[in-house]
This record gives sequence, C-alpha cells and structure tokens, in this order.
Amino acid sequence: MGFGWNFDNSYARLSDTFYAIVGLHPVSDPKIVLFNEELAKELGLSSEELQSEEGVQILAGNKAPEGSFPMAQAYAGHQFGYFTMLGDGRAVLYGEQMTPENERFDIQLKGAGRTPFSRGGDGRAALGPMLREYIISEAMHGLGIPTTRSLAVVSTGEKIIRETHLPGAILTRVASSHIRVGTFQFVANWGSYEDLQSLASYTIIRHYTDIPNSDNQYLYLLQEVIRKQAELIAKWQLVGFIHGVMNTDNMAISGESIDFGPCAFMDTYNPETVFSSIDTQGRYAYVNQPKMGLWNLARFAESLVPLLDDDEEKAIEIAQGQISQYMPQFEKNWLDGMRAKLGLFDEEEQDKQLADELLNLMERNRADYTNTFRALTIGLHENSPLHGKEGFEEWLQKWEQRRGRQSQSAEESMELMKNSNPSVIPRNHRVEEALDAAVNDGDLSVLERLLAALADPYDYSSDFEEYCTLPEKPQRPYRTFC
Ligand code: AMP
Ligand code: MG
Ligand code: MG
Repeated sequence: MGFGWNFDNSYARLSDTFYAIVGLHPVSDPKIVLFNEELAKELGLSSEELQSEEGVQILAGNKAPEGSFPMAQAYAGHQFGYFTMLGDGRAVLYGEQMTPENERFDIQLKGAGRTPFSRGGDGRAALGPMLREYIISEAMHGLGIPTTRSLAVVSTGEKIIRETHLPGAILTRVASSHIRVGTFQFVANWGSYEDLQSLASYTIIRHYTDIPNSDNQYLYLLQEVIRKQAELIAKWQLVGFIHGVMNTDNMAISGESIDFGPCAFMDTYNPETVFSSIDTQGRYAYVNQPKMGLWNLARFAESLVPLLDDDEEKAIEIAQGQISQYMPQFEKNWLDGMRAKLGLFDEEEQDKQLADELLNLMERNRADYTNTFRALTIGLHENSPLHGKEGFEEWLQKWEQRRGRQSQSAEESMELMKNSNPSVIPRNHRVEEALDAAVNDGDLSVLERLLAALADPYDYSSDFEEYCTLPEKPQRPYRTFC
C-alpha cells in the first residue's frame, strides 16, 4: 500500500546538531480511536489505507512509513521563566508530507516512546490528553485560528504509569512546522553562528517566503514572527482561549497555536482565569497572555541578535525596536476583532471604551463570555447573561446608537457578528463529558458529536444548541492537567 505518502524531509538536511535520529518503539495492540478523514484528504493521504491494519502500525509508531526519516527535534525553552534544554522527549517526527497542493506539513507522533531527549520521562502519553489535544486543535481550526491539527489518535493497548495506571495513546500531529522559539534558543546557546544562520534561513524559506531578499532578511524574520504572534494571541483573547503553558518551547515560529496541554476556553468572564493545575502563580492567566507573548518574543529576538548586526549594541537596539512594535499591533488586532464582534465596520474613537464597558459588565456580573456575544449577535437580549443587570440597558442603547452611525444595515452588522462570535466553543463540561465517555466507557459517540459541533462554530442555524448552555452545576474551580 502506498498510503499517499510523499515525504520530503528538509529538516533532516540541516546540520545533525538540530535533531537526533531515533528508532521506533512498537506498542502491543494499537487501535484507531479517532481519524480525521478531511485532514487526510488535504494531505493527500488515503483514509482507507491508513485505517487498515497496516496503516494503524504506522500511526502507532510500529512501522515507519515509506520515505520517512524518524527523528526527535532538539530545542530548549523557558519553562515558567526558567531556561532549560528540552527537545522532543515523547515525539517522533516522521518527516514532511508534501500535499497535492505542494504544501509542506510535519507529520509527528506524540507519545511514541523514549528519545535521547526524554530525560526521566517514559516518552508516552495518556489517551485522555491526546483526545483533548485532538478536540481543541480541531476546534481552533473550526474557529479559523492558526493551529497545528490532529490526524489520528490510536490507543496503544498498553498502560502508562502516572498517579494511576492510564490507557496509553499516540496522537498524529500535523503542523506547518515544529520550529519553536525554543529551537532558536537551543541553537543560539549551543550551536555555532553558522547553525543559527542556517536555522534562520531555513525558517524563512519554510514560512516567510515573501520576505524581500535585499536588506537584512533576519530583521524581516523577526518582524514577521512578531506580526504573526500579535495576530494569533489577539485571536485567542477574542474567543476566550487560554493556552495554559505559554513556555517558549510552546510558541511556534509559524504563528500556529501549538501544544494543547492544560488549555481551555474561558466561560465566565474573568481576566484572572487560570485553568492549569501547575500554573500556581497565574503566570499564564488569560489577562497575561498578550504580555507573555511579548516576553517570549523578546527571547526570540535575543536569540537572533548575532544575525541582526555585527555590532552587538546596535543589534540589540534593532531587536528592541522590533519588539516594541508588538503591543501596539496586538492592541490594534484585538480592537479590530472586538469591533467585528460588536458588528462595527468603521472606527470611532470611543470603540475601545464601548468594548471595555461591556467587558466590565461581564466581569462584575460573572457573565458567560461566549454567550454574552452570542445573545448580542442574535439580538435576543432577554437571553443575555447580562439581562436585567445594572447598566446593561444603557450599554445596549449606546451600542445601538453607535451601530446607527455606520452606513451598513442591521442585517449586515448581524452577519459580521455571526462570523466573529462563535456560537459553539469546546466548553469545559462538554470536553470532560466527551473524554469521560471515551476513556472510561469506550463510547466515542459523545466525542464525535462534539467534534461535529465544533467543526462549524459560527453556524447559528445548527442543531447544536445543546452546546451553548452552561452546566447545571458548574465545576468550580475547573482544573486542567497536562
Ligand atoms: P510540554 O509541557 O508538553 O511542552 O513538554 C515539555 C517537555 O517535556 C518537552 O521536552 C517534552 O518532550 C517533555 N515531555 C513531556 N512529557 C514527557 C514524557 N512522558 N516523556 C518524556 N518527555 C516528556
Ligand atoms: Mg511542548
Ligand atoms: Mg505538551
């Protein structure tokens, strides 16, 4: 069987300091739990063949696909502010699949066993977290937010040891690349000047081909990576997504969201929301995400300093100049996005204040973030979590007046809002319910229905109203684990 594999492993052609060649660690009884047929098609892969007995061997890391070059990538990273060597400790990169559209995607198995970067870890992953990554990454894709994607989850038939014994699983992750801020930090700390140059040039060829090849290409690289993160993190904030572990190894240079561990969507609007059980200081709280993005980008800029100018002082100045562009860009993206969420096409000076007033009302009244925008979108103000709350009527009047001052019709405004405010998000209780049924009862129907709802989150006419309601007894505080 050919499966449709069409590997071209450009990363393997870089210096071998960037990775370790790895062998495979077969598992005893692999079975497909989830398979993404739509994504397989985009990749030029045969769904039928990959779900066959032989295909499962590939998705389980029991047999390398033809043309692959299994490796673990080297990277470093700041974890909760502390710098350390990391690398793929439980992931194997098979290689880069070239699609029928001639696009290039990393095909990586997460949970495929130990590598030279595993340190004390077992290289394995549990079924629950891998299903969770599948759900959230596909939800992000549905929301139109740049993200890595999930091709499949297979159960291994083996138990892994955590606090208890858990069923093992392997996720096939698809990414436009796995180059991270931490990859640059690794090379800047332990590689040569030539290594750094070659990684930066490689990244430009892989992700930033529009960069003019005259001036300083590396300066443009920095500028573009900053621009993409300012876009990405604004999108996260606008839908209430909390990543949970914004360590520098979890920030992709491509601008895709990556590594969905303890991430979750905020329900009640509270800027201080933290879900991750390990984020005890709230470093990666919702409200901190934009500035943590800035912090990570500063680490990226530091890594690039040797390439920005021969004179170090001048190089640092150049880097700082670029970094200072991030916050204004983020704020502009956020406000543009907020205008769309409020059905506004043009710009007025007081728009930020209008948005802030709404957020303040939500915070004061512990209103559900998604449903507040959803009720505004469909114009059912009696259904708003803010209905009857002090100040809401006044706010609505202000908003209606503001909308009245633009030339677009109410219908056009509503269309814009429908495309900007998801009706469905992966609510925590729905994710937990789906994972519980899948992991504990072997029942995938709950998860599959959730995935179907998340595929088209801006569809207000859908049959998925049940996903818009809050749990009867909210789980407080909601905690996620990686
Ligand atoms: P993460 O928190 O998922 O971003 O992972 C941080 C680092 O820990 C990466 O280098 C991972 O490869 C490594 N890691 C996480 N879990 C394991 C595991 N079970 N075995 C080996 N390495 C792991
Ligand atoms: Mg990671
Ligand atoms: Mg992780």
